[in-house]
Amino acid sequence: MTIDLHNHSYYSDGVLSPSEIVNLAKESGCDMFALTDHDTTDGLNEAKIAADKLGIQFISGVEISALWNGQTVHILGLNIDAHNQILQTGLIEHQNLRQIRAEKIARSLSAAGIIGAMEKTQAIAKTKMLTRTHFAQMLIKEGVCRDIKSVFRHFLTTKKPGGVVSQWRQYDEVIAWIQEAGGVAVLAHPLRYRMTDTKIKRLMSDLSANGCNGVEVVTGTSSIEEINLINIWAKEYGLLVSVGSDYHGWDRQKTQLGQLQNLPNIDNTIWRDW
Ligand code: AMP
Ligand code: MN
Ligand code: MN
Ligand code: MN
Repeated sequence: MTIDLHNHSYYSDGVLSPSEIVNLAKESGCDMFALTDHDTTDGLNEAKIAADKLGIQFISGVEISALWNGQTVHILGLNIDAHNQILQTGLIEHQNLRQIRAEKIARSLSAAGIIGAMEKTQAIAKTKMLTRTHFAQMLIKEGVCRDIKSVFRHFLTTKKPGGVVSQWRQYDEVIAWIQEAGGVAVLAHPLRYRMTDTKIKRLMSDLSANGCNGVEVVTGTSSIEEINLINIWAKEYGLLVSVGSDYHGWDRQKTQLGQLQNLPNIDNTIWRDW
């Protein structure tokens, strides 16, 4: 079975529409697919309609930003009821935080000589809800940086122009929102937070102790060694395992939808009852 439980549409920082991405999932041979946009569920309706037409099992998802130990981590909510009030109230709060942050990012970029950053970024985004990816795309379009890698090396992170600290809700609250909506909470891409192994283990342990259900063991860029490592830690901290490409559809991205390495074992998957 081909399963991909982490993907983005243009309702956050992906390129494709929800129906386009579901069509791509079908072409890529996916049997089960989740759309997980950053802090919004706006694309889920359209994706569900497309998936039903094509006969793909569709999982409603969202990727929520959260604070752990003062650092931003991403927690996926999978199999959620997107109409749940507690979840939506939380997401609206994060969408407002994104608006405030976008204005701060734009001001900081303007102090670095990039004028009209807000307008230029909004002009290339298909959504009102701006992510740092949209600012990165603007900086590339304006010829300030060559590619996304060099943007995040010189801009948009702490102490660099456009680097703004986000006041997301704490991880335990975010886990609660997801579970209030009937979903399961999964720590996304644990190796992408620039943390030491000791710190990642502490993160997984804290999340697990606060009811988190699972961890993403396989992501689009995982090596076999990385998969084995997270798989061992998942067992150690009692977390179920999940898989997702984190596909955004950007140019020159190696990650492909539905093309993921195998899990070492499939007896403790997050989707075992779905
Ligand atoms: P935000 O949630 O608005 O802070 O934006 C985070 C998004 O920016 C992530 O989901 C990635 O899609 C993208 N991103 C962050 N760091 C990098 C990086 N080093 N290279 C490419 N994309 C990145
Ligand atoms: Mn993203
Ligand atoms: Mn993420
Ligand atoms: Mn993602």
